Formats: sequence, structure tokens, C-alpha cells
Amino acid sequence: MKRPLIGTSWKMNMTASQAEAYCRALKPLLADVSDRTLFVLPPFTAIAAAREILAGSNISWGAQEVHPDEEGAHTGDISASMLADLGCTFVEVGHHERRRDYHEDDELIARKVDAIQRWGMTAILCVGESTRLEREQAVAYVLGQLRFLDRFDQGRLVVAYEPAWAIGSGAEPAGVDWVEWIHSAIHERVAGAAGGGVTAPVIYGGSVDLASAGDLVSCPGVDGLFVGRAALNPEVFSAIAHAPLWLPSRPE
Ligand code: PEP
Repeated sequence: MKRPLIGTSWKMNMTASQAEAYCRALKPLLADVSDRTLFVLPPFTAIAAAREILAGSNISWGAQEVHPDEEGAHTGDISASMLADLGCTFVEVGHHERRRDYHEDDELIARKVDAIQRWGMTAILCVGESTRLEREQAVAYVLGQLRFLDRFDQGRLVVAYEPAWAIGSGAEPAGVDWVEWIHSAIHERVAGAAGGGVTAPVIYGGSVDLASAGDLVSCPGVDGLFVGRAALNPEVFSAIAHAPLWLPSRPE
């Protein structure tokens, strides 16, 4: 049986003080979870607060972004070494909102993955089509975003499939059959890149809530859930993280 990854990015929500209160509430709620990998991605300013509370627990922390360079004249940016120094395990890159708002392209995002992996952290590489497409078109789009995959350390990589049309308020949640189909296609490509050996997990994000979590996390090809809005409440995130697996998935 797979060990699902269940995580959340808070996006631009929560001050350091709010993050501290959140983590204090979340830690006991998830203390019994031993069969899932759990993580939270606070904004940069709240990572230290999360570390303070979560150190030694079963919940990892990380960041939502990183600069690809090691150091230097990049005002306002944060390097991978700074995140590693804060004990980050996971760093997200390539989110739709970054691609949209900062015109980040796949090449830049690949350099960020390189930087994250150089510092021993795991990159969460977000991919997903911007608008509703036919299945084959959607897969082609996503595989295009994964074209630098071969150069990454597959053991320090998580692919997050997050179709832009399914994320954020007012979005249309993706159906389980859609998610299963696209995830299977991504897995085939990832397995190919790794020569059929180690394969990166592929997690799903986009309007995941308590009602959909069980079906999605049980879906063949889905190796975990990446949760946005619903996880801003620690009790809801805990309930999502406890969602039962209905079906056996790929063998490890
Ligand atoms: C996201 O934007 O990555 C996300 C998963 O958001 P939400 O769950 O709020 O749709």
C-alpha cells in the first residue's frame, strides 16, 4: 500500500502568530497519524514559527517558493540554503499563481527544483493545465511542463497535479475519473524518466475538501493530496488527513 502525502500550502495567509496558534492546534490532532507523510507550507515569514511548534512531531514544514540562485543581488528573494537552514523538508514551485502572476516558465521552475534538491530538500513541482481541455490535450500540456523531469533526482521530487480550473474559490472541482486518468498518464511518464525504477509520487490539488478527500486519496495513481483553502482550519485539515483509503493503489 502507498503511504499518502497529505499537505497544505497556506498561500498568503496567516501571520507568524496565527501560524503558531494553528500549529499548536494541529499537532495533537494529527499525533495519531503514522501511515501518511504530513506537511504544511506557511508563508516565508511564518516558517520559523511553524518549526518552533512542529519540530520533533510527525508534521514536516516547508516553503511555497524559492529563488534558483545560491545567493546574491536578488532583493526580496529567498534562497534554498535559507530554507534548508530553517529545517524545511518540502519546497513548492511552479504553482499556477506564480506562473500567472510572475510569468514563471518551465525552465526557471526547473532551476528552482535543482536548487531545492542541491540543498537536500524535496521539490513539490506543480503542474496543470490552465483551462478545461480534452483529456489528450490536458495530458500533452502537463507532460510538456514535465519535460525537464529526467534531470531531477526522482527520490526528492513530488509532482503535484493542480489544474488551474479546479483551484481557488469559484473553481470547478475535478471529478475522480478525470484525476485518475491524468495521474496514470503522469505516472507513465515519470516511470519512463526514472528508467522504470524509483518514481516520484504524484499528488492531487484543487478544491480538495472533506467531502472529496476520501475518494481522491483512494484513487489509483493519486499518491496524496495538496490542500489549499480547506486546510486553513486545522480541524478540517486534520479530518482530511485522516480520510480513509478505500482502495489499494499501486504497490510501493
Ligand atoms: C492550490 O491552489 O494549490 C489549491 C489546492 O487550492 P484550493 O484547495 O483552495 O483549491
